[in-house]
Amino acid sequence: MKPVRRELLRSHCFIDGQWIEAKNGKRMTVIDPASGAVVGSVPALGREETASAITAAHRAWPAWKSLTAKDRSRLLRRWYELVILHQHDLARIMTMEQGKPLAEAEEEILYGANYLEWYAEEAKRVYGDTIPMAQQGKRIIVLKEPVGVCGAITPWNFPSSMVTRKAAPALAAGCPVVVKPAGQTPFSALALAFLAEEAGIPAGIFNVITGPAQEIGAEMTANPLVRKLSFTGSTAVGKLLMRDCAASVKKISLELGGHAPFIVFDDADLDEAVRGAMASKYRNSGQTCVCANRFFIQEKVYEEFAAKLVAAVQRLRVGSGFEKDVQQGPLIDLQAVTKVEEQVQDALAKGARIACGGERVKSGGFFFEPTVLLDATPDMLIAREETFGPVAPLFVFTDDRCAVELANRTPYGLAAYFYSRDIGRIWRTAEALEYGMVGVNTGRMSSEAAPFGGVKESGIGREGSKYGIEEYLELKYLCLGGL
Ligand code: ADP
Repeated sequence: MKPVRRELLRSHCFIDGQWIEAKNGKRMTVIDPASGAVVGSVPALGREETASAITAAHRAWPAWKSLTAKDRSRLLRRWYELVILHQHDLARIMTMEQGKPLAEAEEEILYGANYLEWYAEEAKRVYGDTIPMAQQGKRIIVLKEPVGVCGAITPWNFPSSMVTRKAAPALAAGCPVVVKPAGQTPFSALALAFLAEEAGIPAGIFNVITGPAQEIGAEMTANPLVRKLSFTGSTAVGKLLMRDCAASVKKISLELGGHAPFIVFDDADLDEAVRGAMASKYRNSGQTCVCANRFFIQEKVYEEFAAKLVAAVQRLRVGSGFEKDVQQGPLIDLQAVTKVEEQVQDALAKGARIACGGERVKSGGFFFEPTVLLDATPDMLIAREETFGPVAPLFVFTDDRCAVELANRTPYGLAAYFYSRDIGRIWRTAEALEYGMVGVNTGRMSSEAAPFGGVKESGIGREGSKYGIEEYLELKYLCLGGL
């Protein structure tokens, strides 16, 4: 295999246009989840260094927001083009640290780059407003202004696209960003920093820091110069960050956990439903926050759907993401494997049956077999807790009301999916589902052009689309008097 362009593999943090080491020289190791081997290390920055990154971003802010939108747009566009140019190298770095199959990694690089392209375009369309005044001699003008320094904390399941999904709208709006990627997958974010610099994005505008999450998080939430925090990760951590941001009343965006229902009605095209189920459940080995977590299948088609799904799951090849024709890479770490295993054991103890899979793969790395569980019931852990692994539990339901009631019976509200060909049923179900995103006759719906986000305990705010940039803007009302 062709070696990756050397400069893309960075093992230092990027602050204020400089590649830096931790002052105390401490480092954190990064593991290849397919083998358990160490693939490298990155600096373990502390609070003080986080504060200096924030100060640098704040210093760089005035010049950045004073650029014309067109100039910011051009720089984002150049960054986009460089990411596309290096798509294969960036994908290899991702597979090395995250484990996903190379083809999926390539897809993610493209998906992430799309946010850079989209917000390069949106940067030019941040329109204010004029409003008719209720009093004589005055006018109302509404300006949209960048909120200020943004902190971004990103997860390991999408190491590249979660960074661009936050940084692109922030930069387009005129805000500098300090990103803390997940400790498991820092190299993808650092490679993006290298390309941002190469694209000509000025020093201090896009910073990437690595280190202990709690320390960096504590500074990002406490520092008054940070005006906005955008987080993607678990609901538990999101709640902590929300609480800590309260002290200085920061704007926040949270994209948290999900527990997506996947409903198959008896009039559905079952082959299509199986295709959607495979895309939703087994992408990234089940490690996405929009992965189907509960399959509700109507009585009449339960057996047939189960048989078709099991046949498709049995065709999946498990292995290192670098191996040809592998569709299922490893889980991120041992803890993830243990969690999945516990959920499966709990389900079996409560009456579920294994149709296929069900075991961890014993040969090195953190692998779990793609699994289908039959006869799942609401009292099982898997019916409540996010699985984040390749296990599909199949529940049975009788009527539409019951399906929607079961689907909504969760504190989460990120993505939901259902299959039907009846237009009345489609409309009624889509309206009744308490979710931020609903896929109708599709198992995949993420796009830079659409608003991504959840309701209930799945989060606050939206990313992507024309709505995403609003998260990085404040409204300023000008009252022009004395006319
Ligand atoms: P997961 O359990 O899937 O790893 P987390 O919510 O723990 O999800 O991680 C998402 C991101 O949040 C990662 O970048 C992680 O380092 C970071 N993180 C974890 N705990 C904290 C914390 N207490 N404060 C700030 N960031 C945190």
